[in-house]
Amino acid sequence: MNIHEYQAKRLLQEYGVPVPRGYAATNSREVETAISHLGDDMIVVKAQIHAGGRGKGTFTDGYKGGVKVVKNREEAQEAANHMLDNTLVTAQTGPEGRKVQTLYFTEACDIDHEYYLAIVLDRETAQSVIIASTEGGMDIEAVAEKTPEKIIRVPISPTMGLRHYHCRRVAFALGFAGDQVKQFARILTGLYKMFWEKNAMLVEINPLVTTKQGQLIALDAKVSFDSNAIFQHPEIQQLRDLNEEDPKEIEASKHNLAYIALDGNIACMVNGAGLAMATMDIIQSFGGSPANFLDVGGGANEDQVTAAFKIILSDPNVKGILVNIFGGIMKCDVIANGIVAAAKNVEIKVPLVVRLEGTNVEAGKKILRESGVALTPADSLVQAAEIIVEQVKNAD
Ligand code: ADP
Ligand code: MG
Repeated sequence: MNIHEYQAKRLLQEYGVPVPRGYAATNSREVETAISHLGDDMIVVKAQIHAGGRGKGTFTDGYKGGVKVVKNREEAQEAANHMLDNTLVTAQTGPEGRKVQTLYFTEACDIDHEYYLAIVLDRETAQSVIIASTEGGMDIEAVAEKTPEKIIRVPISPTMGLRHYHCRRVAFALGFAGDQVKQFARILTGLYKMFWEKNAMLVEINPLVTTKQGQLIALDAKVSFDSNAIFQHPEIQQLRDLNEEDPKEIEASKHNLAYIALDGNIACMVNGAGLAMATMDIIQSFGGSPANFLDVGGGANEDQVTAAFKIILSDPNVKGILVNIFGGIMKCDVIANGIVAAAKNVEIKVPLVVRLEGTNVEAGKKILRESGVALTPADSLVQAAEIIVEQVKNAD
């Protein structure tokens, strides 16, 4: 789960990380209030969307920049008028962009240098890793690719946690000395505590800057939380912004379905994340393109299968459906009944291929055959993928 920059900064502040004073706004009245809280001096107006690269982004009406440093309140108001309810396209949003529904107004900083600082979960080593660089402010992936020697990586053992020597090691590698080492240690300690206590998967400050006055301060923040741990953090759950999520994904989460929309045209309904990945891969290898990832889970019932069909069919790009279910905990005949009931409940106008395997598979196939629902049964995953790709191609 992701949150906005302004929310991330509030959290950072709770953990003792210095951030510029700022106010968020979602409508013109709030914009006025937010601006009035700031001095009639340099103000930064920032579009709040769950995507980075805003500074270099362009709005669909041609207005440039989702992060604007302006000279006074009047110019802040002007920038806000351009940004609010406009659609911002950045390197991370895809060409369709994101509608800006929240703005953030903050004090501008006199920047001396921009650094990068993050803590991420590294699944390979099962540890968290501090990632830092003197090349902040820009796209860190590009820095990693072009000048990998400029990326500092320091793993943190989960049993030992962050120690002061970790802080000093990173601080020295970034070239800090004197009081700035102390400031940096305070920031990294707060960042790690937040990462750990809130079950984050990523906390990123890009840029962390030094000001001309010698202060370290976080100018941008991105935080992603582990959705599986969100139930432990109602205060984080409250920060969820449904405007930033695909309505199909919101609907899926209500039915406990793991659904991720993709840009292809063959929808998949599968049980088990591994099988879902394999199904998407095999569709691709036959020249098709998956419209989604959908894991209905081990104990999917008829209601969930019906909800899954509805969500799949609400995507206008879907030109065919591949159901690939392994009957283990759930028996194939139960699943077949679910599919038939759901298919009768929701009108399916696109080709439907169903592959069942596992316990009671013959009984399941019989139910499908005798159901009167227009579908093509398949015996193997390969065959199922081949058929659906072919049927979708022919329907074009
Ligand atoms: P994004 O990463 O989405 O482009 P940032 O918040 O990192 O957005 O802003 C982009 C750039 O704008 C920063 O690298 C920094 O140079 C400048 N900037 C952002 N906030 C401020 C601020 N409060 N004061 C001065 N400059 C800022
Ligand atoms: Mg940034």
